[in-house]
Amino acid sequence: MYKIAIIEEFHKSGLELFDKHKDFTYEIINDVSENNLINKLPKFDGCTLRVSKLTKNILEKCKKLKVISRHGVGYDNIDLDFIKKKKISLLITANQNDITVAEHAMYMMLSLSKGVVSHDTAVRKGLFKKGIKNIQTFELNKKEMLIIGFGRIGRSMIQKCNSFNMNVKVYDPLVKKEIIEGKGAKKLENLQDGLRNADFVSLHVPLTDKTKNLINLNNLKTMKKNAIIINTSRGGVINELDLNKALNENMIFGAGIDVFEKEPVTSDNPLIKNKKILLSPHSATFTNECKIRMAKQTVKNIIDFFENKIDKSMIIN
Ligand code: NAD
Repeated sequence: MYKIAIIEEFHKSGLELFDKHKDFTYEIINDVSENNLINKLPKFDGCTLRVSKLTKNILEKCKKLKVISRHGVGYDNIDLDFIKKKKISLLITANQNDITVAEHAMYMMLSLSKGVVSHDTAVRKGLFKKGIKNIQTFELNKKEMLIIGFGRIGRSMIQKCNSFNMNVKVYDPLVKKEIIEGKGAKKLENLQDGLRNADFVSLHVPLTDKTKNLINLNNLKTMKKNAIIINTSRGGVINELDLNKALNENMIFGAGIDVFEKEPVTSDNPLIKNKKILLSPHSATFTNECKIRMAKQTVKNIIDFFENKIDKSMIIN
């Protein structure tokens, strides 16, 4: 019998797969403090993980742990070098959330360019036309779109941008020109050129040493004043203080931010007071459909791992 820790609960449709399986028992752990995980995790053979951190301090106590199944695709919350050394496998729910995140990025682009919040507020406050007198709105049609990172989510964005008749450019040094052109976009060799010309920018890269602060004051300064930037990737890919300054000084028009350097966001984060930003609480995957797909895939990955039939696309390590 394999013992599995569910670190932070998820949709019950996933857990029901364990209920039907005689070889697995599970325990839900919602207190994700380092101390609690150090105490609780050592007895488990595998675990699932949402956004809480699995540090080296925790992992070195987990002598039985063979597999971590991420409910998601990013894995910057795990000490990857350590689990590689210890031969602990890391699995992700690949291909279950790309459409959902791309839809969220599009929703943010549309909301900001159409002034959705201001228009709604104007009607509710009885300022029917007066309330939107100074609100600028923009079309997506024929605008220059820059997608940074052309993996699962970046590729899902492209169809949507093409259907709005946008002129799509892609910056991803690791993806071949033919693949990008095959999807109807142009590959850029230089990020700075892309940022200088873009009306809309959407980030779809992992958080790594190379992508930390990828968007900072130096390149925000070079962007168009009407530019809108969307981050549904990870907090830290855009430098938050630099973004706040760029918006306050009208270097760019607006930003849609789903992910933050520190989550949950605390009241001292300047972004939450900035009216030029549309915020969401790391909820780009929270549609009813996606919650179910991710929950089922997270559990299926654990079962498939122990039954030696795991799909290669789910394996990071
Ligand atoms: P993916 O691995 O399929 O694609 C990432 C792409 O980024 C790859 O093509 C890679 O070549 C590219 N890349 C890496 N470094 C780069 C750099 N310096 N410059 C430009 N491109 C670079 O991942 P994905 O499934 O598309 O997800 C992307 C990221 O989105 C994840 O790593 C995760 O952090 C984030 N994410 C967030 C949410 C959310 O809820 N907001 C949900 C899912 C994923």
